[in-house]
Amino acid sequence: MFKKILIANRGEIALRILRACREMGIKTVVVHSEIDREAKYVKLADESVCIGPNPSAQSYLSMAALISAAEVTEAEAIHPGYGFLSENADFAQRVEESGFVFIGPRPETIRMMGDKVSAKDAMKAAGVPCVPGSDGALPDDGDEMIKIGRQVGYPVIIKAAGGGGGRGMRVVEREEDLLAAVAMTQAEAGAAFGNPVVYMERYLQNPRHVEIQVLADQHGNAIYLGERDCSMQRRHQKVLEEAPAPGITDEQRQRIGESCAEACRRMGYRGAGTFEFLFENGEFFFIEMNTRVQVEHPVTELITGIDIVQEQIRVAANLPLQYTQDDVKLKGHAIECRINAEDPLNFFPSPGRITTYHTPGGPGVRVDSHVYQGYFVPPNYDSMIGKIITYGNTREQAIAKMRIALSEMVVQGIATNIPLHQQLLVDAEFIKGETSIHYLEHQMPTIRELIAKKTAI
Ligand code: ADP
Repeated sequence: MFKKILIANRGEIALRILRACREMGIKTVVVHSEIDREAKYVKLADESVCIGPNPSAQSYLSMAALISAAEVTEAEAIHPGYGFLSENADFAQRVEESGFVFIGPRPETIRMMGDKVSAKDAMKAAGVPCVPGSDGALPDDGDEMIKIGRQVGYPVIIKAAGGGGGRGMRVVEREEDLLAAVAMTQAEAGAAFGNPVVYMERYLQNPRHVEIQVLADQHGNAIYLGERDCSMQRRHQKVLEEAPAPGITDEQRQRIGESCAEACRRMGYRGAGTFEFLFENGEFFFIEMNTRVQVEHPVTELITGIDIVQEQIRVAANLPLQYTQDDVKLKGHAIECRINAEDPLNFFPSPGRITTYHTPGGPGVRVDSHVYQGYFVPPNYDSMIGKIITYGNTREQAIAKMRIALSEMVVQGIATNIPLHQQLLVDAEFIKGETSIHYLEHQMPTIRELIAKKTAI
């Protein structure tokens, strides 16, 4: 096992990784930008290194700074967390070429999955069901494109091979708009991702977002840890997640889970990963794979009892997985609410000093957060300040616990999206379950009104 790991991230996930390391008896190096210097989690680490000024480009995204920090502290491995450089194949490669272990898949795997066209090709070859669409990248020829559009069937969605974070996508309702839409998406993708390649998929009307968590070691073993439902989204960004996904049968879970595990074995996948699917009329359609730990991993940890971050570290150290597929038993239900420093009505970021802070607790309540009373939420990074995760024997119980947890949570000095979660947790359709990826957006005007009324009192 590693003696020392460098954590190339910040905030709640840096603290989450730090906790895993401490439990495993591994020493930690936390890197930080200037503004993060005073954060308490930095002081919990065995060592800390300032890697640059506040802008991410000069700190958390600086490969040279991160690798020098690993060199001077003599860390053996680097955990990238999520976001920042976690899915950057060049970084993974530089880490390994510099003699450190990258806690994640091999650089080639990250590169293949980072390009959505090659990722889909790999999935098709492995027998994972994909959204019907163009066979690879769209050709240059307009007539060919029109032909493909007819085969796929309208509405279609044009997606950038290099896209991410919900960007680089355009829905086309009618054939006469196709060529212009493709040209626009190509131009945008070229500018935003440095890769103008686009492909076409059928635009599913009312799908849910259901994803499969996998773990794979370097000895040919791969298992799936069930699924999560992440359909509650705003602008393609997840707001609330749960596991298991309501209404998925054991047989459906087993079939899709096994095909993901098999895909991992085929590509020699290493570490934790997530296969994202759209789920409609009982069918799964692969959209992309994330080659890192996800924000929403705790809901899976609670229903399986498996520590995903510790498994990532063990696998990176070339140890075999501690679990076989038969050891994975799903029990109970877990829900996660992402707490963001933002205005619940207009979603504007709300950085600043937290003047009062009180977290919920009690049986079945987990809070993953790096913030505390007096903490200054910097304006430079993502607005997520933490996550509340509740666990119950049933979905109803997890929901009830989440309502209580949210009511106990006090954050003053900045605005948060807690009121939005509170409305969602009493929403009749959410309580029923199985809402589509469009539900939250569609319900926002009503939720906004309810929040405004409540704040007025
Ligand atoms: P990103 O990498 O930017 O997150 P994804 O391919 O994961 O892109 O898609 C993000 C979201 O866009 C999905 O969760 C879904 O809401 C929507 N989406 C993507 N592809 C389709 C499709 N074929 N039909 C309907 N919605 C889609």
